[in-house]
Amino acid sequence: MDPLGYAREHRARFLEALKEFVRIPSVSTLPEHYPDLARAADWVAHRLTGAGLTARVIPSDHWPVIYAEWMGAPGRPTLLCYGHYDVQPPDPLELWTSPPFEPAERGDDLYGRGASDDKGQLLTEVFAVETLLKAGGSLPVNVKFFIEGEEEIGSPRMIPFIRKHRQMLQADVALVCDGSFFAAERPALVTGLRGLVYTEVELRGANRDLHSGIFGGAAPNPLEGLARIIAGLKDRKNRVTVPRFYTPIIPPSDAERRSWDALGFREDEYLQGLGIEDAPGEAGHSILDRRWARPTLEVHGIAGGFIGPGAKTVIPARATAKISMRLVPDQRPRVVLRAFTRKVQRLTPPGLHAEVRLLGSGAPLALSPDAPALRSAAQALEDVFHRVPVYMREGGSVPVAAEFQNVLHASPVLMGFGLPDDNLHSPNEKFHLPNFFRGIEAVIGFVQRLGDGSAVTS
Ligand SMILES: [Zn+2]
Repeated sequence: MDPLGYAREHRARFLEALKEFVRIPSVSTLPEHYPDLARAADWVAHRLTGAGLTARVIPSDHWPVIYAEWMGAPGRPTLLCYGHYDVQPPDPLELWTSPPFEPAERGDDLYGRGASDDKGQLLTEVFAVETLLKAGGSLPVNVKFFIEGEEEIGSPRMIPFIRKHRQMLQADVALVCDGSFFAAERPALVTGLRGLVYTEVELRGANRDLHSGIFGGAAPNPLEGLARIIAGLKDRKNRVTVPRFYTPIIPPSDAERRSWDALGFREDEYLQGLGIEDAPGEAGHSILDRRWARPTLEVHGIAGGFIGPGAKTVIPARATAKISMRLVPDQRPRVVLRAFTRKVQRLTPPGLHAEVRLLGSGAPLALSPDAPALRSAAQALEDVFHRVPVYMREGGSVPVAAEFQNVLHASPVLMGFGLPDDNLHSPNEKFHLPNFFRGIEAVIGFVQRLGDGSAVTS
């Protein structure tokens, strides 16, 4: 049977499965949902077995990983499909039109927590592979699935997991379906993700909190020290002053530039959408450039001293600030952290002691639109959606994607089927059902094109 015929005939069943999946409240950050995560993992493994793969649930020291494979194409390339079965907490509940874990169809959309991020998108991969196996009896490439349950809390255990299981996960191409179109009817391929170095800076002064009447003017103040440090981390042109911060940066390719110019992004609409008159940032770079292609530094919180109601005349003994940097290729988290730590030490006023602690980090990712796997993905998207996909970068991070490239040496393909108004992480999350069904067809086309063999680089 023709695969597209099979995929269209089974649409109602695919939709029922998605609803069943959304009903499992697999919130990875809330302890009361821990049994639901185990249930969701079993559900995914069961689906993959039903699709014709050999699947197993691998207990990790946190949420189980589902691994599945179909290795019936010896000598052919191997595709690794990635997704996550955990979801964000649904609150505030009162803002949902229908309950978050009771999937509801309204118009062309299915509402429910996780419908788009990432349950619906994960299932496009599962049902594409099922379609090819059931309709044709085999796949043109080997296929592996790696499905995790802690993406929404930053995948803390997945980087060691990938390194430990690099043999099992080895692949030529890694497909990540956990993203969005640039706009409705504008499919997109992601060619860059920023990396991250997230720190906590602690300043210590005297050996105890001091009375500002008795000691004021004659003791170091950690809060004032933090303010001076933070102010010193950027110059008048909003450039980060950490030494060699900008030296290893690879600028976007000409193909990316052309694609961005064609996006029709308007800075005035951006400002209006945020209710601001100006978007301060590194001088000489456009807003899109600063969000996608330039490294940045932001302060997230400052704590210390007295913040209760009323007045307390204290000079605090210590104060902390959370400061992170988003990185772009070819910046290396470890090198940036070292230079940042030295800069903080140099900016620390006399009498204070600074300590920089690393809370999290991840490498940036950049892909060439000319990579064969990306060209296959672009073709597959164009075949189904009848629009040439745009190449865009994302300012955020997908921690595992860089690992697929750096550790597995697989070519990542980030092809998402969400829409910008899907309300990810917000009340009334939804998935646009035409994108669910066409997403399945796009993944089918992508797998078929990989089978040509021309799409493998490594
Ligand atoms: Zn996601």
